[in-house]
Amino acid sequence: RVKTKWASTRAKVPATNLALQHFDATYKKYFGELWPSVRIGMLSEQKYGALMNNFASNADVISTLQSQGCRDFIRAEGRDAHVLSDESEQNDRPSTEPARISSDIQCFVFPRGDITRFKPARPDSAGLLSYYLLDAASVLPVLALDIRPGHSVLDLCAGPGGKTLAILQTQAVRFLWANDLSGSRTARLQRMLQSFVPKELRGDDKIRVTSLDGRKWRNMEDLEFDRVLVDVPCTTDRHSLMEDENNIFKRSRTKERQTLPLLQIELLLAGLQATRPGGELLYSTCSLSPLQNECVVEQALGLAQQEMDITVRVQDLSSFTRLFSDTFHFAPQPALGELVLPHLCANFGPIYLCKLLRVS
Ligand code: SAM
Repeated sequence: RVKTKWASTRAKVPATNLALQHFDATYKKYFGELWPSVRIGMLSEQKYGALMNNFASNADVISTLQSQGCRDFIRAEGRDAHVLSDESEQNDRPSTEPARISSDIQCFVFPRGDITRFKPARPDSAGLLSYYLLDAASVLPVLALDIRPGHSVLDLCAGPGGKTLAILQTQAVRFLWANDLSGSRTARLQRMLQSFVPKELRGDDKIRVTSLDGRKWRNMEDLEFDRVLVDVPCTTDRHSLMEDENNIFKRSRTKERQTLPLLQIELLLAGLQATRPGGELLYSTCSLSPLQNECVVEQALGLAQQEMDITVRVQDLSSFTRLFSDTFHFAPQPALGELVLPHLCANFGPIYLCKLLRVS
């Protein structure tokens, strides 16, 4: 009884403060002297990128953005892919897949240190919006997935659809399945598709949208995909520091937060089962937490081998990230995968990405 009274009278600490306390306690240890810089980045205004919609007439929009000093960070830096992949063969990290960049995705950003905001996109004469605003670092998982012409792609946790749209911008996908457990999120995704993709490209044979529990994918669907994106629910670190609403650090959501790594492992395992042998999967989060990033990958790979007889090889992304080091700050030598660190001069991320090849 005393406990109840205490609970009802104690001052409510905003969830954003709880998140900051948690991050200070855990990330300071993990990131050491980098933490103050990452911390101030996450507490400051985030930078956006404009993912261009190749299905809209956007030539004028592009020249306006260029006249404002914006540049497409993918074309600007991706051009040297081959030179950089050759260099990567000299370093001592394992497997050196050449970095391949889908040249059809275009994402414009303002230069380092320039915090100009983008105006909201306007519709073209056909009613399609010219660009989609998102954290430019969230295009990296799609670029790293290396989607090639004719590929079938599964986006297992797709809502609200930023990365789904980036996948479609490759113009290489034969069939895309976009799934999200949340009905409201898939509804947002459908609205996004209507605003950005012509009707003739939205047929059931080209794009399918479902609201299924990704963990049960194997029991429901027999299809195997060339490429699978597993962009899991996580502590959304930047959002958790900024917004009290829907914040996973609320005391009432403690259990949900603590069991996130388990959910992430289950989703990653389901994604691996949906990947054809020889196909590739990209695991990503927007958290700095090693427990939700490399630890999840390590555990899922062990379980995949022991319990499902699935052999997986982690792909080296170091030559890939080097291509984009003028735009993003990457964490120095993470154990597994790559991590974009927020920074005041390039305030994107956090985004963690790890690419996996299903060997058998
Ligand atoms: N990929 C999205 C994008 O780029 O817009 C963001 C995905 S968000 C980080 C994670 C998503 O996972 C949320 O939309 C959430 O509804 C969804 N989710 C949570 N549990 C899930 C489950 N069991 N199966 C499928 N999706 C799930």
